[in-house]
Amino acid sequence: MKVTENLEKIQTEINHHLEKSVIKTAPNVIAVTKYVTIDRAKEAYDAGLRHFGENRVEGFLEKKQALPKDVTMHFIGSLQSRKVKDVINDIDYLHALDRLNLAKEINKRATHTISCFIQVNVSGEETKHGIALSEVNDFIEQIKAFDNIKIVGLMTMAPYTDDKDYIHQLFKQLRLKRDEIKNLKLNYAPCEYLSMGMSNDYTIAVEEGATFIRIGTKLVGEEE
Ligand SMILES: *Cc1c(COP(=O)(O)O)cnc(C)c1O
Repeated sequence: MKVTENLEKIQTEINHHLEKSVIKTAPNVIAVTKYVTIDRAKEAYDAGLRHFGENRVEGFLEKKQALPKDVTMHFIGSLQSRKVKDVINDIDYLHALDRLNLAKEINKRATHTISCFIQVNVSGEETKHGIALSEVNDFIEQIKAFDNIKIVGLMTMAPYTDDKDYIHQLFKQLRLKRDEIKNLKLNYAPCEYLSMGMSNDYTIAVEEGATFIRIGTKLVGEEE
């Protein structure tokens, strides 16, 4: 399938689910290009996409180099502390801030303020990265010490399941936590955004108020 066709379908779905959503504005679609070639990423650009996501340092730098300069680059994977220096100043949004020593390293290596989402493990599954929902407030309190970090929102990955009600619940819990942090009105943690929803669950994320959805397979995957 062409990216334009996939995008059209996704946009139709988004508009449909927005009717049942807690928000009225469509989320930003991040094209997750980690599985695909540079040419396919360029096709996504030509289809009008301007947000791109990668989860590995090499792939990230390669796609950033190849794409036009007006893209917004999201690093969506877990980042090893020793690799921070290779990539941090090229990232527009980091979606996976999940531990204090990573924050410390980012703060040390960044030459400007880095916009970060805190990755939250809402489901509590052991295989998932992210800090527990109950630890978000303490974690944010500790981030205050790092001048080069701005907490722009919360991010989560839902487990792979057909249980839609359960996914609704997880996304809703993240939204409520986002609202709570946002209401604290901290300068270093405006926490306005919600990064949630992937190919299999983005329609649920739209209904629960996602501001960024991260789509790979259904958008740029399955090349002919
Ligand atoms: C791979 C990945 C995605 C996209 O996954 P799809 O199921 O292919 O849409 C989204 N978010 C993160 C963090 C990922 O690693």
